Amino acid sequence: MLQMKLCGDVVLRTVCEPVDKITPELLSTMDEMVQMMRAQNGVGLAAPQVGILSRFLVMMDPDSETIYRMINPRIVSYDSDVCTMEEGCLSVLGNDGLPIYANVSRPAGVVVEWTDVTGDQKMAQMTGLPARIVQHETDHLDGKLFVDHLSSVRREMVMRKVKKRKLS
Ligand SMILES: [Zn+2]
Repeated sequence: MLQMKLCGDVVLRTVCEPVDKITPELLSTMDEMVQMMRAQNGVGLAAPQVGILSRFLVMMDPDSETIYRMINPRIVSYDSDVCTMEEGCLSVLGNDGLPIYANVSRPAGVVVEWTDVTGDQKMAQMTGLPARIVQHETDHLDGKLFVDHLSSVRREMVMRKVKKRKLS
């Protein structure tokens, strides 16, 4: 059973290692992550969010409801156009246990390459929500959170609302 890691946990600030082999364990972990993402009404979940320091993620295009299972995803180009959208994260929760949202500016479109669950190389050009989600999720693989894209003043405002991780 995977457990959601919350802001304050060092796993969310660690750069993940590439996946070198697609194993049945990896595939079942990704299936479980898809279930967790759906259960929490999320649109993406990256491995470090469940404590695994490995470069893979799951995400959903909310419009088509297409599910992506990406192994070793890499953004190979960014649009020069930037847009601002509200973002939240299943690892950045407020005291009510719900994600905290903030407006984040990022490139409006990206080209992403990844290995799929069968080992095939894929490439896609994404715009709109999928472009936003894949940038947020690949950031996780590099130990980055969406709050890192905010000005220091706005980041402070968000972080003040963040529920402190229970120390056990
Ligand atoms: Zn996130």
